[in-house]
Amino acid sequence: RRKWRRVVRVLKEFEEACGTPVGRLRQVVDAMAVEMHAGLASEGGSKLKMLLTFVDKLPTGDEKGYYYALDLGGTNFRVLRVLLVGKRSSILAQDVERQSIPPHLKTSTSEDLFDFIASALKQFVEKEGDGSQISPIRRELGVTFSFPVKQTSISSGILIKWTKGFAIEDMVGRDVVECLQAALTRNGLEMHVTVLVNDTVGTFSLGHYHDPDTVAAVIIGTGTNACYMERADAIIKCQGLLTTSGGMVVNMEWGNFWSSHLPRTSYDIDLDTESSNPNDQVFEKMISGMYLGDIVRRVILRMSLESDIFGPVSSRLSMPFILRTPLMAAMHDDDTPDLTEVARILKEVLEISEVPLKVRKLVVKVCDVVARRAARLAAAGIVGILKKIGRDGSGGIASGRSRSDTKMRRTVVAIEGGLYTSYTMFREYLHEALHEILGEDIAHHVILKATEDGSGIGAALLAAAQSSSN
Ligand code: ADP
Repeated sequence: RRKWRRVVRVLKEFEEACGTPVGRLRQVVDAMAVEMHAGLASEGGSKLKMLLTFVDKLPTGDEKGYYYALDLGGTNFRVLRVLLVGKRSSILAQDVERQSIPPHLKTSTSEDLFDFIASALKQFVEKEGDGSQISPIRRELGVTFSFPVKQTSISSGILIKWTKGFAIEDMVGRDVVECLQAALTRNGLEMHVTVLVNDTVGTFSLGHYHDPDTVAAVIIGTGTNACYMERADAIIKCQGLLTTSGGMVVNMEWGNFWSSHLPRTSYDIDLDTESSNPNDQVFEKMISGMYLGDIVRRVILRMSLESDIFGPVSSRLSMPFILRTPLMAAMHDDDTPDLTEVARILKEVLEISEVPLKVRKLVVKVCDVVARRAARLAAAGIVGILKKIGRDGSGGIASGRSRSDTKMRRTVVAIEGGLYTSYTMFREYLHEALHEILGEDIAHHVILKATEDGSGIGAALLAAAQSSSN
């Protein structure tokens, strides 16, 4: 009995440390808006990089023709082709092909990697259509490259560093598009790279293409990031920035957000310390799919060390990242009366068997606390963006108008990623928090719209928009 009490205390303490009452969420909202300002004011002014994307014109819907995209984000890359027929074409993805990148190419030379990609792209192009379609005279390619890049224009950018297991030293500091374009030429492929973007910007473009009221995009998958449309004159660190629309999409790199208002626990601090990038990506480590399962594992390990309710301490509990987030979600969503799914995962993944029902319930509770905190913080981040652009219903401090006579415009945020689309409880908690923070009247005008394959299709759409403006 005493041991049970100890375990319950571990849970209670954890739950309290993860607390996200609406007051605290509002502090996170304010901190996000403040950091956005700081990141726009000067280079290095905030943990938020607030990167320029040079995307100032979004697709209008009138674009026509075939456009290609290449989506390079990590283990896989995809090539795709879309056909646009104007009037915001509803069927976009004509052809998609996914290929994994042979591991040895990730640490080879840039020529090897890009030759491999170029030849895959060439094969894709050569089998295009069924012969009945006329090939475009000039093939244009939008590229989504999800590594840290310092953009120098919409179609050029320098690789700052590799992540996700890539290590091709000769590429760092070089222009990604130049390297790719050279490989296309070497492989005899007549194709022009006209756009280089980050995946959130692709999602934003697709969202905006389908719904022009879209003001921002958020990705919550393995990692998390967001971008939004900012006024050019608010980008203070880039004085005299000229854009055709008066605005520019800003890539926030919000995974690196930090605030003292974030409800961080000792488990988060340990996870961070033991990670390959300590002190980096603190917000991401509390929110995204790469990490949530591991926070749960750490809490279960503590409980197991405090008492014998899980039997002898399983060595599996000490293995980082053994409990993947989709498994955590499966336990969380287990609606069988005996929690048989929880029992199965504990046994098969963590090698903990014969756990009594009340202990299994405790495990579900841990999942709930971790997912709920993550979803509510993501919601606060979204409202932070809305506040920065004056779409949170507060009407702006300067306007002097009261909340009720401010006409709130319809405001859409495109959202993508495995956590939002596949983790039901996460999605529900996120919506709930959005309503709590904004209040029903305002929340009514804010719509989260799930997009699919935005990172790839969006790059093709931007290539199209770019082409029609030239
Ligand atoms: P990525 O971010 O890797 O490009 P996705 O946006 O599809 O790709 O996100 C995949 C991530 O989403 C996985 O790493 C996993 O953490 C998470 N995920 C996928 N399916 C589920 C699920 N059913 N429940 C919870 N998380 C999931």
